[in-house]
Amino acid sequence: MALNVNENTHPVPDDVAADIVARVATAIGGVNRYPDREFTELRESLAHYLGHGLTPENIWAANGSNEVIQQILQAFGGPGRSLLGFTPTYSMYPLLASGTGTVWLAGARDAEFELSPETAVAEITRLDPDIVILCAPNNPTGTPLSLETIAAAYDAARGMVVVDEAYAEFMPEGEPSALTLLPGRPRLLVSRTMSKAFAFAGARVGYLAADPAAVDALRLVRLPYHLSALTQAAAVGALAHSDEMLGMVGEIRVQRDRLVRELAGLGYRPHRSGSNFVLFGGVADPHATFEALLAQGVLIRDVGIPGHLRVTAGTEAETTAFLTALASLGRPDG
Ligand code: PMP
Repeated sequence: MALNVNENTHPVPDDVAADIVARVATAIGGVNRYPDREFTELRESLAHYLGHGLTPENIWAANGSNEVIQQILQAFGGPGRSLLGFTPTYSMYPLLASGTGTVWLAGARDAEFELSPETAVAEITRLDPDIVILCAPNNPTGTPLSLETIAAAYDAARGMVVVDEAYAEFMPEGEPSALTLLPGRPRLLVSRTMSKAFAFAGARVGYLAADPAAVDALRLVRLPYHLSALTQAAAVGALAHSDEMLGMVGEIRVQRDRLVRELAGLGYRPHRSGSNFVLFGGVADPHATFEALLAQGVLIRDVGIPGHLRVTAGTEAETTAFLTALASLGRPDG
């Protein structure tokens, strides 16, 4: 079983899938024409889903949030400009920076992979980046990020500040999103994805919310008609059933919290997580443990942090299978 790339392991519910198929079938009837290059209906659906008083003018979308972030770097980065992230963080940031000729700057975190307002401000002051990217919650560590840190980073930065909220829906219920910080902050961009909580990774839909002027800048770098009519129809269909699509989020949070609890019980050191995965330390030989789990049919992720491995919270049965396989390897401390 694949618990390695933080997918939602629950499939799209049958009735939602049937509605999406019907909408895609209608869209096929018009594929001789180019799609709506402004993907207006999708932006309306996304604005409605996000709430917070956002309108379609605040919304942008692309083929996955990787493409959204790439477009941000094409628009605001490039030769002579720099991007600061706080490592360890999402491995695509330095690659997207490199692909757009943007210099990657690796900032430091506090103990336990946390990021306090003071540390974020100190690193921004030290490295003076053109763009700052904050991953909240952070991949691969799972660490949630406080709004205080985001606001302080915004005040300290002179350029665009991107908050990558790919895993936001897995935060504890009632925890505020960086979306609440958008009013009055025209340099703030909040990116999201339908790949995780929405169980839509294969459809490739990422999006962002920002000031309309920032959204306009992305229009300059996107390829014409970058979002296919089929993608637009499928995403609008999924968003029309957002409650049902997100129905498994509560169950995934339960399995995430169970992983943290039971990994500690097995003698490992799991880190605090607001996402659908858990990073755990105390692994003497991550490569050997990874291989031993794989031999039992459980695929997790060696993210290259010494003494650590990362596992995605799956269904209850998948989580049980992972924990059982790990327990069979013996206690790391015994
Ligand atoms: N941001 C983070 C933090 C991620 O972990 C991922 C996927 N692993 C992405 C962005 C990109 O996801 P997608 O392109 O599927 O939207």
